[in-house]
Amino acid sequence: MTINRRTFLKYSAAGAGALSLSGFAAPALATGEIMPKSGPRVVVIGGGWGGATAAKYIRMQDPGIEVLMIESEPVFRSCPISNWVIGGLKTMADITVGYDALASRHGVKVIQDTVVAIEPDRSRVRTGAGAIAYDRLIVSPGISMIYDEIEGLEGNVGVFPAAWKAGAETQQLRDELQAMADGGTVVLSVPLGPYRCPPGPYERISLIADYLRRNKPRSKIVVLDANQKIVSKGKLFKAAWDAYYGDIIDYRPDNKVIGVDPTTKTLMTDFDEVRADVANVIPPQRANDLLAPSGLRPGGKRWAPVDPWTYESTVHGGIHITGDSTDAATVGGVPKSGFMANSMGKVAAAAAVALLGGGAPARPSMANTCYSLVSAEEGISVTAVYDWDDESGKMAGIKGAKGLSPGRSNLVARNADDWAKAIWSDMLG
Ligand SMILES: Cc1cc2nc3c(=O)[nH]c(=O)nc-3n(C[C@H](O)[C@H](O)[C@H](O)COP(=O)(O)OP(=O)(O)OC[C@H]3O[C@@H](n4cnc5c(N)ncnc54)[C@H](O)[C@@H]3O)c2cc1C
Repeated sequence: MTINRRTFLKYSAAGAGALSLSGFAAPALATGEIMPKSGPRVVVIGGGWGGATAAKYIRMQDPGIEVLMIESEPVFRSCPISNWVIGGLKTMADITVGYDALASRHGVKVIQDTVVAIEPDRSRVRTGAGAIAYDRLIVSPGISMIYDEIEGLEGNVGVFPAAWKAGAETQQLRDELQAMADGGTVVLSVPLGPYRCPPGPYERISLIADYLRRNKPRSKIVVLDANQKIVSKGKLFKAAWDAYYGDIIDYRPDNKVIGVDPTTKTLMTDFDEVRADVANVIPPQRANDLLAPSGLRPGGKRWAPVDPWTYESTVHGGIHITGDSTDAATVGGVPKSGFMANSMGKVAAAAAVALLGGGAPARPSMANTCYSLVSAEEGISVTAVYDWDDESGKMAGIKGAKGLSPGRSNLVARNADDWAKAIWSDMLG
């Protein structure tokens, strides 16, 4: 059952009413609590890569545990493959999946609402409708953008969309590219790492360049990269850019965007000012701002520290954090990817089930492959498998089980498409 806000309120009221007959509702209502617990319960915040995976895998491992997944959006929209929408190879419909199977096949209670606070001392979360208690909590709300690090950006994101969460901005960027005249300039800025999906900006640059090459050959894309060089799969991207987009991509490393002017659609670095016809500013990022008030993201830190054996927060017990919000340094230098978040969701689910049953969580292992298209036909990839490392007390890449694709190929591009469909089904099917 997928529960929207109106049904949720009705459902909560019905639940409270039923319980009031047996005499248990009054204390719950007095504390503002809705949907009182009747058995072991895990609440999951966020139905993205980490959260949806964890919700499904808890129910698969122990159907006796009630799982409530609270997600702001009515459907899942995938960031992986969203660059393909911007390049015109897929549509938003192709990267959208409903939550119906999670509810009907696995009994996850999917609640469409926004969590506004986490209260670790009372083991509950708060939405606009009231407080919901948990025995264990899994937090996977992704990232927040740090808009105010770029002067002039706050309040003007409509002029400089990031499209770094798949949705309306993804379609906006696609529409703007289509509307741009031949001879126009696209400007894309890359923030300093760590940010969500290290190779993501470079795949986007490739697909925009490919679109321009085929449809608007007098146009170009200027890349203002805050990093010293391409952050991921650098040689493979560079080789493709040299082969296909020599005149189209103007790549400028070590060029951090520090300000924007919305009236002239101009991006400023320490050295330069570049005027855009289409501007794509990807701001610096941090763990979702929901985590800071409860201390899950400690003051002064950008990311949330976790114990990588269980993904339990090192600040508050009983709360597991997965996905991009986690501090990769505490996990073991892993990338902020959907595949990684899916792996973390499985580890956290197994740990939560074990701990709820009074058992010991099993030794974790994780895997990651990041595919990127370098043109409409060709892809590249990077893979790593991670195991527990006793010495560091973190996850470490297994030697011989990691590496880059030997070159770009159509086979890797097809694998990328197949991978996305398979992992969406693993999370949500
Ligand atoms: C352009 C692009 C391309 C990418 N390509 C790849 C790729 O090819 N392969 C790969 O592995 N990774 C890729 N990634 C990275 C991947 O998308 C992220 O690493 C992944 O989404 C992280 O998962 P998460 O669970 O942390 O967050 P998300 O998947 O973002 O999920 C967070 C969810 O929480 C919800 N939420 C947030 N706050 C609240 C709240 N307060 N209450 C309720 N719900 C809330 C959000 O609506 C969202 O659905 C790409 C990213 C981008 C931007």
